Amino acid sequence: MKNVVLLGSTGSIGTSTVKVAEDLPDQIRLIGLAAGGNSELLLEQTRKHQPAVISISDPAKAKDLQNLLGASTQVYAGNEGLLKLATLPAADLVLIAIVGTAGLQPALAAIRAGKDIAVASKEILVMAGEIVMNEARKHGVRVLAVDSEHSAIFQCLDGKPTNSVRKLMLTASGGPFRSKAEWPKEKFPEITVERALKHPSWVMGRKITIDSATLFNKGLEMIEARWLFDIEMSRVGVVVHPQSIVHSLVEFVDGSLIAQLSTPDMCLPIQYALTYPERAASDRVQTNFPKIGTLTFEEPDTDRFPSILLARRAGETCGTMPAVFNAANEVAVDAFVNRKINFPQITETVRRVMDAHQVVDHPTLEQILEADAWARCEASR
Ligand code: MG
Repeated sequence: MKNVVLLGSTGSIGTSTVKVAEDLPDQIRLIGLAAGGNSELLLEQTRKHQPAVISISDPAKAKDLQNLLGASTQVYAGNEGLLKLATLPAADLVLIAIVGTAGLQPALAAIRAGKDIAVASKEILVMAGEIVMNEARKHGVRVLAVDSEHSAIFQCLDGKPTNSVRKLMLTASGGPFRSKAEWPKEKFPEITVERALKHPSWVMGRKITIDSATLFNKGLEMIEARWLFDIEMSRVGVVVHPQSIVHSLVEFVDGSLIAQLSTPDMCLPIQYALTYPERAASDRVQTNFPKIGTLTFEEPDTDRFPSILLARRAGETCGTMPAVFNAANEVAVDAFVNRKINFPQITETVRRVMDAHQVVDHPTLEQILEADAWARCEASR
């Protein structure tokens, strides 16, 4: 039995994680759940899974939950609650699926308490990959990937060292504007929020869906891969694969390529992270090759999607630049969703903020958070 703490239990990754735990009642026990604002769903999850400790952002909601649940469950609130859960003595693994930077401190707290972590929040490795991986090495804990691409690479590598790898190839669906014939660059300013929110193969949260349309999501994943697998940025590539069946590939030094494939379903990488190093039997994901028929691959179009080039630059520069890349994008996506800027201006905003940034090498967490705040301010301006 593995005792799992789930931070971000009511979001897209969180609800899939709860499903996986329900598939494997003899192997996974949810001993702590934390949610942002959805107290109704948190209450339902708590009644079903009986975690000893839960947490919600708003202290008033925490009070209500405590009254409803009684003394058998301890209810915390805010950042203090996240830190409490991340360091629960009984926890074997802490899965962090909180949107934004709020997951960073709990991730470090969990590592320092000797817990393995599973990372679904991109910000953790993008902003502080160097610090997080150094701390994990120091404390002898694992940092497991929940993202389908990184889970795929992890499965393909299967413990092989980085010096046996020629290149990691992250696959990208290409998003809803992949077709150049249908969506030439001249038409990009006309892209509406509603159109950008329609993703062809994955159902996900709002921010990540816009990031998939701009390919910023792939950019963030390139930087994550750079830290997670301790490999230089020049050996992290991207290939567009619209069917989203091949979740990523590893090209080894002998020219051999190993890929991981399945019908797209986040429950699969989540389950692998929760049960690693074991594989648990499950019928949830079925892949029918004759029915899929064709798998295609193409070069990413960096002229229409320059976010890939900005990500490469951020990952090569390192220091505080990836945090700036991430923060500026968050502000720009927000502005796009609120109809203040058009679609190409998301990338343009990030580029201008990156151009203006004075990089700090090997930053402390404080310097990273400063760069993050600076980038948000600069992007808003
Ligand atoms: Mg992904």
